[in-house]
Amino acid sequence: MMMNNQTFDLHVHSTASDGIYSPQDIIEIAVSSKLAAVAITDHDNIDGYFKALPSAQEKGIQLFAGVELNTDAYDTEVDILGYFWNPDDQLFLDMLKDRQENRIVRAKKIVAELNAIGLEISYDRVRKIAHGSICRPHIIEAMVEKKYISDQKEAFEKYLGFGKPAFVPHDQVTPKQAIQYILQAGGLPIVAHPGLVGNDQVVEKLLQDGAKGLEAYYPMHTEEEIAKYIGLASRYDAVVSCGSDSHGPKRKKSFPIGSTQAPIEVLEAFQIKLKEVYKSKEGHLQ
Ligand SMILES: [Zn+2]
Repeated sequence: MMMNNQTFDLHVHSTASDGIYSPQDIIEIAVSSKLAAVAITDHDNIDGYFKALPSAQEKGIQLFAGVELNTDAYDTEVDILGYFWNPDDQLFLDMLKDRQENRIVRAKKIVAELNAIGLEISYDRVRKIAHGSICRPHIIEAMVEKKYISDQKEAFEKYLGFGKPAFVPHDQVTPKQAIQYILQAGGLPIVAHPGLVGNDQVVEKLLQDGAKGLEAYYPMHTEEEIAKYIGLASRYDAVVSCGSDSHGPKRKKSFPIGSTQAPIEVLEAFQIKLKEVYKSKEGHLQ
């Protein structure tokens, strides 16, 4: 793989969802790692971007506004990343608020399922642990506190994963709807970690459904997968992106910020596409 002196990371989670680092911490780390750009992409939540913006401007690092929408489809989890040149679309912000409400309903259901099998976890404790969008890692922290399990891996394997006793699906938004929401808001929809989808026909279908990019550069992808997704994206005039999916230490996905490298041209093409989708929504670009 081609290496360059400056890399970038377009997939990072903060305390606005299930990340360990605050938005400001992420900027500090990105600056000390000499990244050219960073995007905060929390689950159903764009607040981290606004919180990090002042420090990003002060430190002179390029910060992108992003979000990750998780959906259950095709017997797997399909995650769609959305990036925004200008995250000002009220309908989209309302949609995120709706999804955050749904996350509360889902977390309460998971807690009830756990209670039903004898694990005494309280929703109030989970709510206190979460700073923004409520995610399963917050429930897991409450489970670890009570010593029912020792880590996230065990929690998913025994209780929370697909088909386990306290598995509760995400809300009913389909991947296609998630893509459409992002496009309507003038955003750039990109399929997160296509290799983890586990089915390339599904990945291709997402491009046909309007996704404009694939996260080809991802810590768990092999060189062959990277090449394969670059090829697939180019057939659909889509871009590729590069993200670590960092959630911070001790989370299941704990790859360090900036740990995946891609040629800087990937970032340039990403920015062009980002402006293009925004422009096609607004009809102009200031
Ligand atoms: Zn993610």
